Amino acid sequence: MLAQAKKALPGLTALALVLATIAALSGDRVIYGDPTGPVPLEMPATLGPWSGEKVRFCQSDQCAASFLVSTLPPDAAECPMCGAPLGDISVGEMSLLPENTPIFRSAYRRAGHPDVMATFVFSGMERRSIHKPQRCLVAQGNRITDEYTLHVPNDVSDPDSRMSVRVLEISHPVRGADGKVTGQNASVYVYWLFNPERETVHHWVRLGWMLFDNAFRSYRPRWGYASITIPRDPESPDAWRAELEDFLPRLYPTVTALRRDLDSRRDRVFRLSGHSWDSNVYEGDNAALTRHIRPGPAKPAPKKEK
Ligand SMILES: [Zn+2]
Repeated sequence: MLAQAKKALPGLTALALVLATIAALSGDRVIYGDPTGPVPLEMPATLGPWSGEKVRFCQSDQCAASFLVSTLPPDAAECPMCGAPLGDISVGEMSLLPENTPIFRSAYRRAGHPDVMATFVFSGMERRSIHKPQRCLVAQGNRITDEYTLHVPNDVSDPDSRMSVRVLEISHPVRGADGKVTGQNASVYVYWLFNPERETVHHWVRLGWMLFDNAFRSYRPRWGYASITIPRDPESPDAWRAELEDFLPRLYPTVTALRRDLDSRRDRVFRLSGHSWDSNVYEGDNAALTRHIRPGPAKPAPKKEK
């Protein structure tokens, strides 16, 4: 039975693709799931013993340094290292992600522990807002040394609780002033994907559900992409696991509440006419956005001179 289903899968996927394409090309459509609405998320100021702090990024692709806000002068607008403007979004994200992609991010600090970075990126009408990190991280000069799925607790009050996350062990070369590699910074990149109805660690599972929901239900909610980065101490290379198991259950209720809030707007009607990539807007004002473009009213046709 399972073998048969597996055999039928490529055929069914092809059929779904054809149907999705027909649906996408058939002019005006009504879409549910609120793909353009605000994301009701605020990064928690504290998570138990962890306290959150904003991160700023140098917008020069030569420098690309990042800074915790507490290490910058108040209201600093320029990079202390090179003088280029600072922004809330990294140069890499700015160049790789479609415009109007909402990103929420905080570094979490705790005395005696490495800083943990938590980031949420959301797709809307643009599914390219969520990239495979395997490609992105390598494009940014990282090497992935190992990759696997891990089951970790996600409920502080229940040590037996478990959720799946994908773990990438990465190393990033450290270069001296002459550009020569002087060492490696090791860290762990942990992620999973969610929408109001589902969670998964696999991009192909997300794509499958997106196709299915779009083609058969006209349901196109935002997908969220949660990632947690933890530096690795060469003295105790496995300490990140305990950090993750302490941090993630504290962060997870924020995700649960967010998914519930997003779900409560599933019946909002969005009328799509033309191409969906024109409609990738963010209606909130609470997120850092990649290149922010507000679609103006359609330009009236120029009047013909007599
Ligand atoms: Zn700089």
